[in-house]
Amino acid sequence: MHCRVCSQSRLEQFLDLGDQPHCDSLLRPEDLGQREPFYPLQVCFCHECTTVQITYTVPKETMFGEYLYVSGTTETLRTHFRTSTERLINKLGLKAGDLVVDIGSNDGTWLACYQPFGLRTLGVDGARNLAAMANARGVETWARFFNADVAREIIASKGRARLVTAAGVFFHLEELHSVTAGIAELIRDGGVFCVQAISLGEMLKYTQFDQVYHEHLTYWTVASLDRLFALHGLEIISADLLPIHGGSLELLVATRGSRPVDPSVDRVRAEEKRLGFDRIETYRQFGQRVWEIRDELLAILRRYADDGKKVYAFGAPAKGATLLNSFHITTDLVSCATEVNPLKVGKYIPGARIPIVDERQTDLPDAYLILPWNFLKEFLRKKRDYIMNGGAFIVPIPKPIVIDRSNYDEHAG
Ligand SMILES: [Zn+2]
Repeated sequence: MHCRVCSQSRLEQFLDLGDQPHCDSLLRPEDLGQREPFYPLQVCFCHECTTVQITYTVPKETMFGEYLYVSGTTETLRTHFRTSTERLINKLGLKAGDLVVDIGSNDGTWLACYQPFGLRTLGVDGARNLAAMANARGVETWARFFNADVAREIIASKGRARLVTAAGVFFHLEELHSVTAGIAELIRDGGVFCVQAISLGEMLKYTQFDQVYHEHLTYWTVASLDRLFALHGLEIISADLLPIHGGSLELLVATRGSRPVDPSVDRVRAEEKRLGFDRIETYRQFGQRVWEIRDELLAILRRYADDGKKVYAFGAPAKGATLLNSFHITTDLVSCATEVNPLKVGKYIPGARIPIVDERQTDLPDAYLILPWNFLKEFLRKKRDYIMNGGAFIVPIPKPIVIDRSNYDEHAG
C-alpha cells in the first residue's frame, strides 16, 4: 500500500481492530438472515510524511451514498455551527453576496447559519438523502462528491468562493488530492478554506481509538495536513483547537504567500513535535492502551451482567460500532441501543447486531453505556433525574468509569 498523502510505501501498522462491517450500514430486520460484509480495520503511520491512515478503503458510494448522520440532530452541534459562523464572518470580513461553499454539507445546518447575513451559499454532499433535506429547507445543495471537476463547475456557475468550509469530512476523502486541488481553485481569488477535523492529538491524548472507522481514512495533525496542502500550493495560516467531537482542529488555509501566517501555526506544530506525533513509538503506546480499555470495560459490563442488571447503549453513533466490534461486545452484555434519530430506530448496529430502539418509548436500564462520549455533558444534563434516581452512565473513553449520583457533580461540572 502507498501513503494517501505522499505516495511512498514506508507505512507501519500500529493498531489492528480486526475485520469489521462498515459502521454506518445499519442492518434492517430483513438483513439479519445474511452476514454483512466485513473489511479490515487497521491503522498505520507513514514514516515519510507522518500521516496516520487506515489501510483499506470501502468505496465512498457504499459509505456515503445514503448517510444517517444528521448534523441538525444535536444541540451541541447546532450551537457550534452558529458560533463558528460568527467567528469566521468577523475574522474574514465576509460581506453580503460573498459565496460560501460547504463540502460535505450534510443537512445544511451550517450553511443555514450564513443566510441571515446575506451571504450566498452552496452545499455539496454525496449523500442524496441529506442533499434533499437541505434543499427542502432552502439551502441549495448539490448531491455530488466534491472534487476538482465539481469545483470547476461551481466556478463556472457561481464564481470563486470567499470561504470554503469542510467540517467533519476532511478525513473522509477517498479522492484526497482531487478534492484539495478543487479547493485550491475555488479560493484562488483571495478566499480562505476552513477545515474542521478530528484532532489526532486529542485522539492520542484521550485514547479515542473509536474515532477509527472505515469512513475515516486519514487522521490529521497540523504537520501532516501541511504536507498535503503544500503539494497543492496552499498553506495553513492559523490553527485552533475546538471542543467539538472530543477535540477538533480548526485550520484556516489560503493560497501560499497570499496572507500572513498566524503564530498559532508554529505553536501547534512545536507542540505536536513535543508530544511525539512524528514518532512511531507514540502510536505503538496508543495501540497498547486500547487493549487495556477493553479489559477494564469488559470487567465493568460483566459485573452488571453477573448481577442480573440491564445495560443499554446510549446512542448508536458510528464510533460506537467500532468500540463494540473491536471488543466483541454483543447483546449478552448490552441488550439494545437507544436513539432519537428516526433514521436509526428499528435497525441494528452491524457486527454486534444490537437492536436500536426509540429512546422515548423504552424503559430505563440500570446503566447506559455512553457511546457518543463527546456529548457526555449534554447527556448528563438531560439524564440528571435518571442518575439521581439510581441510574448510571458507563463511559468507556478515555478510561472506563461509572458515573452515578455519588460522582455526578464532578463530571457534570
Ligand atoms: Zn506519507
